[in-house]
Amino acid sequence: MHTFGLTGGIGSGKSAAAHYFAELGVPILDADEIARVVVEPGSAALASIAQTFGAEFILANGTLDRRRLRERIFSDSVAREWLETLLHPLIREVVKEALKTPCTAPYRLLMAPLLLETGMDQLVEGVIVVDLPEALQLQRALARDQCSEATLRQIMQAQMSRAARLARANFCLDNSQSPTELQDAVKHLHTQLLALVEKNRT
Ligand code: ATP
Repeated sequence: MHTFGLTGGIGSGKSAAAHYFAELGVPILDADEIARVVVEPGSAALASIAQTFGAEFILANGTLDRRRLRERIFSDSVAREWLETLLHPLIREVVKEALKTPCTAPYRLLMAPLLLETGMDQLVEGVIVVDLPEALQLQRALARDQCSEATLRQIMQAQMSRAARLARANFCLDNSQSPTELQDAVKHLHTQLLALVEKNRT
C-alpha cells in the first residue's frame, strides 16, 4: 500500500488540499484524529498531563481542554517540549498501527501537521508540503481561528520554518492563490502520484 504524507503549517490549507484529494477518490488518514486516542479519558498520557499542568486542564466531561493546553504550551517552551516528548512517540505508534489497515486505492494520504516534527515522515513514501508565504498563512489562520494573533505567531514559531519544511518536501502544493488554483495543483499532483505508483508496480 502506498502512503504519502500531507503536511504544512497551521492554516496552510492541508484540510482544503485533502478535501480535493478525497474528491478524486484518495483515502485520507487524519493523524490528528487518530492521535486523539492517545489522550482520551482514562489514558496514562491524560493523567500525566493533569498531574503536570493541573486538573483544570481536564474538562468537566473528562476530556482534555485542548484550547487551554495550546495557550499554555505555546507560551512556555519547556512545557511544550515536555508535552512533545510525552506525546510524539505515542502518536507515532497509533498512526503506525492505523497504517496497517489495508486499502484498495492506488495510494492514500496521511495528513499530519507535525509529520516532519514527529518523524512520521519515516512511515510514508514521500512528503507533500502545502506551501504559502507566512504572512498569508497568518492572515488565513487568523480569519479562521478564535485565537489571538500572538498565540498564532507563537504556534508558527514553534512549528518548523517554511524553508526547513520545503527542504524536506518531495512534492509541493502552492496554496498562495485561490482555492480553484489549489484544486488544479492537487489534480496535477494526483496524476503524478498515480504515475509514480504505477511505475513502482511494474
Ligand atoms: P490547520 O493545520 O490549522 O488545521 P490547515 O492546514 O488544515 O489548518 P485549512 O483549514 O485547510 O488549513 O485552511 C485554513 C483556512 O484558510 C481555512 O479557513 C480555509 O478555508 C482557508 N483557505 C485555504 N486555502 C485557501 C485559498 N487558496 N484561498 C483562500 N482561503 C483559503
